Amino acid sequence: MNIVKASQHLNVVVEMASKLFLTFSCILFLASFMLPVLSHLQDPHLRPNTLSGNGGSLKAMQGCRKGDKVNGIRDLKLYLAHFGYLNYKKNPSATDLEENHFDEELEVAVKSYQVYYHLNATGILDEPTVSQIAMPRCGCLDKVTHGHTHNSIHTVSRYAFLPGTPRWNKGQLTYGFGPLFPARFIPPVDRAFGRWDAASQYFTFSRATSYQVADLKVTFQRVDHRDGSPFNGSGGVLAHAFSPPDGRVHFDADERWAIGAVPNAFDMESVAIHEIGHLLGLGHSQFQSAIMWSSFSSGVTKGLSSDDIQGLRALYGA
Ligand SMILES: [Zn+2]
Ligand SMILES: [Zn+2]
Repeated sequence: MNIVKASQHLNVVVEMASKLFLTFSCILFLASFMLPVLSHLQDPHLRPNTLSGNGGSLKAMQGCRKGDKVNGIRDLKLYLAHFGYLNYKKNPSATDLEENHFDEELEVAVKSYQVYYHLNATGILDEPTVSQIAMPRCGCLDKVTHGHTHNSIHTVSRYAFLPGTPRWNKGQLTYGFGPLFPARFIPPVDRAFGRWDAASQYFTFSRATSYQVADLKVTFQRVDHRDGSPFNGSGGVLAHAFSPPDGRVHFDADERWAIGAVPNAFDMESVAIHEIGHLLGLGHSQFQSAIMWSSFSSGVTKGLSSDDIQGLRALYGA
């Protein structure tokens, strides 16, 4: 029963992931569905995420390891594929038993995920790994899928760029808030832009004269908001943003947002700083102190780190 629930939950997440991915690029969409061989080229930023929000049911899969055949493994594969840890596509002709086989490739992918999140690379779906998967997080991908080798386990990477290194070709960017954006959360988002402004010699941010003409469009959205990447209610994915020059950033209206460190709520300014990083072309960082780290905790605030600034400098400084 629990395993079935975990499987259903994974399915929902994977569906979300797929949909988010679709919106980011029609070309990538076509590539992913018509040319599976190109899947490793998909923009990591384009895949979504999360499996979180339901650590309880996910825990039913806890302890799974290579050789196991358990319902939900296929969804774990899809989940890891969507986040850039595994080259995997659902095979319509394969049996459930085959698809739910915790095979060697999955073990490598789980190890890769564990390394990324600084967990023991056991390759087993152990408690720390399940807990990490259950963490609320950003809806964007962690990294580009590539052929994983054991070398990757020893790679120390921190900041990252989005695939294709999309960048702005101007330094003066305007931003605007959608009509339904809660007024009380405008000041923290203003401050978030201010943080990047102050820390970088590359950008200045100012409020646009209207939402329509803004380079960067900030909105609250909930569940299916017609960009192909529905939010999932409370928990799970908290927000997502689109790479340059798209400029859209969406916050999940079903989350409990706060100004500052409020227990069981997410600090709007901290999450906004993270999402602005994506708007500027930064990917997720493996440096846990970085604002571009993919997961968020409730009840805390977080700001830019030297890693984030180094990433921006590397992207725009040349
Ligand atoms: Zn993110
Ligand atoms: Zn959205």
